[in-house]
Amino acid sequence: MSFNADLIRRQFPILECKVHGKPLVYFDSAATALKPMTVVDRINEHYLYEASNVHRGLHFLSDQATQYFEDSRARVAGFINASAVNEVVFTAGTTASVNFVSQAFGRALLKKNDEVLVSEIEHHSNFVPWQKVAQQTGSKFEVFEINKDGSFNLENFLNKLNSNTKIVSVSHVSNTLGTVFPVKEIIKHAKKIGAFVFVDGAQAVPHQSVDVKDLDCDFYAFSGHKLYGPTGIGVLYIKSNLQDKMEPYQMGGGMVDKVEQAITTYQDAPYKFEAGTPHIAGAVGLAAAIEFVNEIGIDSISEKEQELLVYATKIISEIPSVKQIGTAPGKGPILSFVIEGTHPSDVATLLDQEGIAVRAGHHCTQPLMKKYGIPGTVRASFSMYNTTDEMDYFGKTLKKIVGILKD
Ligand code: PLP
Repeated sequence: MSFNADLIRRQFPILECKVHGKPLVYFDSAATALKPMTVVDRINEHYLYEASNVHRGLHFLSDQATQYFEDSRARVAGFINASAVNEVVFTAGTTASVNFVSQAFGRALLKKNDEVLVSEIEHHSNFVPWQKVAQQTGSKFEVFEINKDGSFNLENFLNKLNSNTKIVSVSHVSNTLGTVFPVKEIIKHAKKIGAFVFVDGAQAVPHQSVDVKDLDCDFYAFSGHKLYGPTGIGVLYIKSNLQDKMEPYQMGGGMVDKVEQAITTYQDAPYKFEAGTPHIAGAVGLAAAIEFVNEIGIDSISEKEQELLVYATKIISEIPSVKQIGTAPGKGPILSFVIEGTHPSDVATLLDQEGIAVRAGHHCTQPLMKKYGIPGTVRASFSMYNTTDEMDYFGKTLKKIVGILKD
């Protein structure tokens, strides 16, 4: 499928819904992307005709489910250009992946006076788990500042990076501002001093091609549901050379080799990191989502979303009293803004009355809100299924809302 906006929209029946009697305008894809029919059909098909547990049975359905589950892993590995399929571990999502690495890797690695370095742009999911492991290990939790426009500040980063820094964990793309961090450059600097790098790719993978081999990161995480896939499934890429050094995060069935009262041995990666019955339907659904994206082409998606972002930015910049927060060059399709004298939640509620779904609040980035001295923003986040007509309607509605709230 080449980029055909009508065909693409038809893949998302939810877009035909009415909200408060108005056509739905969905500008909340950064929270979760809508699901195309091919993904939902694939999940249905799995539950209706293929349901069975994996890696366990000696019967046809179980073998088949195992095959589809492992095919899904291979599809993910190809999508992010992992060197080997076993570098892909299925988790419940980005949050689960960060907790996994901070506890299974960070907790064993970090010693007193070591440092963990994150940025002030991080989602709480890539902030709090590192803060916690620093407390648990007596190491220091350091945060580097970004520029006021939301862009990465190399000098601030380098000032915080030092020989005590053992782990650097950064977002590839900010969920609040859309800033794209130069992760390859960050990784290069971190490697020079021997630090390990975790990249939170939750907001990157749906909008740009990601090549973990080229980035040379140690860990890369994302969530299926932000990539048009199901909730409850996520990915943690772990570079091969680290897998044997890492202890399992959770213990249980499926990840063991031999269990005796005195000692248990584990399977090789990725299985030793996947205790219990995995989210099989989630994995096949995620593979279908990746297939959907691949058919359209991530570069075409990216180009379309950039056009939408430019269009929407122009529209809101023409409304007096609307102030955009985060204007870093080359940012992803996320527009955060505040309106003088109004609360973001009031704006979002009024937009909702007109059928427009946006997010308002701190977006799980309280340290970032503190930097800007605001309680929150209104965030409109776009995806390939959005249109310029929707943006025109959004602009018109926003103008009306500004009038109402200012009166
Ligand atoms: N990191 C970023 C940048 C995000 O935007 C999000 C979700 O919004 C997360 C992490 C957490 O993702 P999940 O809730 O799917 O685990």
